[in-house]
Amino acid sequence: MKKIILDRIVTLEDLAARDKQENGLAWLLWKCEEGIRKGKFSARWDGKRVEGEAVMAFVNNGRWGARCKVCNAPQYVSPKTPVFFCAECGCGNSGRGWGVEFPENRERIEAALLAREVTVDESLLIRNVVELAMHARPKTPGLARNWRAGIEAETLEEENAERKGKR
Ligand SMILES: [Zn+2]
Repeated sequence: MKKIILDRIVTLEDLAARDKQENGLAWLLWKCEEGIRKGKFSARWDGKRVEGEAVMAFVNNGRWGARCKVCNAPQYVSPKTPVFFCAECGCGNSGRGWGVEFPENRERIEAALLAREVTVDESLLIRNVVELAMHARPKTPGLARNWRAGIEAETLEEENAERKGKR
């Protein structure tokens, strides 16, 4: 296992870059077309209609995500493009997207998570930052780059300090 530098929480923008899409919104619209083509849903989203209750963002293994309110599928989200459109069900085939709610102290939460070192299996072929985050494992057991609504930044920082003290 090799210690790696992954100095940001991966977002929808990284996914867009991986798939050669201009930005997060372009990626969502691209997935909307794909979903329609594959018969997953039929209502086309214009990239503008954003209505209803926002979905809450979380961090899972160093990646910002949120879950669909209809089918529960997880998707990448981005503070830069805080819009959710479900590539699996088209937000219940509604032809609209939802907002994404990020924590107010997002930067502090990210900093606490990024302080947690990660490692990756050297034998894996890693082609981009999305794959890197996908395969990254916490260097210190118990200090994963995970966060969900309700967990205070202070709690993350305390956990970091506690584990460091034990080393
Ligand atoms: Zn869905």
